[in-house]
Amino acid sequence: MNPIDYQKVKNMSQVVTRIAPSPTGYMHIGTARTALFNWLYARGRGGKFLLRIEDTDRERSTPEATDAILRGMDWLGLDFDGEVVSQFDRAERHAAVAHELLAAGKAYKCFATQDEIQAYRDAARAEGRSTLYQSPWRDADPATHPDAPYVVRIKSPDQGVTVIPDQVQGDVTIRNDQLDDMVLLRSDGTPVYMLAVVVDDHDMGVTHVIRGDDHLNNAARQMMIYTVMGWPLPVYAHIPLIHGEDGKKLSKRHGATGVEDYQDMGYPAAAMRNYLARLGWSHGDDEFFTDAQAMEWFDLSGIGKSAARFDFKKLQNLSGQHIAAAADDQLLGEILAYRSKIGDAELSDDKIAGLKNALYCVKDRAKTFGEVIEKAHFILADAPLDIEEKAAKSLDDVSRSILKSLTPQLHNATWTREGLEAVTNAVAEAHEIKFGKMAGPLRAALAGRSVTPSVFDMMLVLGRDETILRLTQAEGYTGS
Ligand code: GLU
Repeated sequence: MNPIDYQKVKNMSQVVTRIAPSPTGYMHIGTARTALFNWLYARGRGGKFLLRIEDTDRERSTPEATDAILRGMDWLGLDFDGEVVSQFDRAERHAAVAHELLAAGKAYKCFATQDEIQAYRDAARAEGRSTLYQSPWRDADPATHPDAPYVVRIKSPDQGVTVIPDQVQGDVTIRNDQLDDMVLLRSDGTPVYMLAVVVDDHDMGVTHVIRGDDHLNNAARQMMIYTVMGWPLPVYAHIPLIHGEDGKKLSKRHGATGVEDYQDMGYPAAAMRNYLARLGWSHGDDEFFTDAQAMEWFDLSGIGKSAARFDFKKLQNLSGQHIAAAADDQLLGEILAYRSKIGDAELSDDKIAGLKNALYCVKDRAKTFGEVIEKAHFILADAPLDIEEKAAKSLDDVSRSILKSLTPQLHNATWTREGLEAVTNAVAEAHEIKFGKMAGPLRAALAGRSVTPSVFDMMLVLGRDETILRLTQAEGYTGS
């Protein structure tokens, strides 16, 4: 094999990365992470990030799975450049490359039948030789070619080694005598996947192949195609797979593995990006960061060699931080999108405005959008409220009589935190109780719940009329 021309790689003025998922189900969280790494790498360098759907397996590929990938990318905010490339649509081009190699004598027609190959392997096994098939047609004179079906095989070197200069794994050496003359075109003329990947990556101008390390072995064979075509090699970075908390490959057993599951669980996309970026990559001790920081910091040298473990606690923690840090307009939009995603009824304009006003007091310490909505129950629910059992306990006779003396004061109170604190404290003092004793009944009256944002925040958000209405209704509460 020719040595790798790094100069050629480095001189490429623009970084081009890609994600190349096979559309055979839902979008796996590992695919999302690989997409994110490629996106960060390209976006942080003014490069391009492309999407190719590897749909050559016609039996397993479905349009629904492609849609799921597109939806996942969209939700995660991983915008790609240009059109989606369909690998299947490019089959003619893949075959043309195989024919080019054939014409150049770098590939050959192999007429061996399955039975002959099997017989070769059986004999090799019996004699203790390598069972890798060595075709007698490799150096056959074309004049001897029969008029029979054939596959096209690459002429790969049978001596020496192929070194994959991997940016994560280091140099990975594979002995060439362990690689057979791979089939490029099947006997029906269709190209194999391995050829398609290389031709597509080359034609798409991909400079960096960042993907799961389950493809590391493929890289040696793929490099061979680049080499015989005289194409510059991409930079390879094979990233370790994601494991569950028990150190085994992440599977449904560990919990959700689909991107959409996380969307449905109410995690913000920004938190997912942050969390997935940290899954196998690090930048010092930084845990919480923005997209801009991730783009600036992301580099292949920060990718770890060992499998990352999926840590739900850490995701929740980051999610809480992203929700708390989000701008209200952004957060509102995402919460509304989340509600519609999980099938909740549309909110009226009034409710949306109320929710927006409430965000400042409900977005802290909420790990998911669901928790934000839960905390915002006081503004989303309509009076008269259903009062939860636990909250109802604080609406005893005494408490209701205290609320009764507070309500008239609220008509003239200055509607600010200080103004509300002043009247409430005055009522508490008059009844010779601490304010704390009033908090439970007020929560019950204003939200129908025992766990709520601060009572003053709820009053400020609800406004004078609604607050008075709810307190008046609670004063008359006799249980349900
Ligand atoms: N289609 C492959 C997969 O979904 C990715 C191939 C590649 O990235 O080269 O695992």
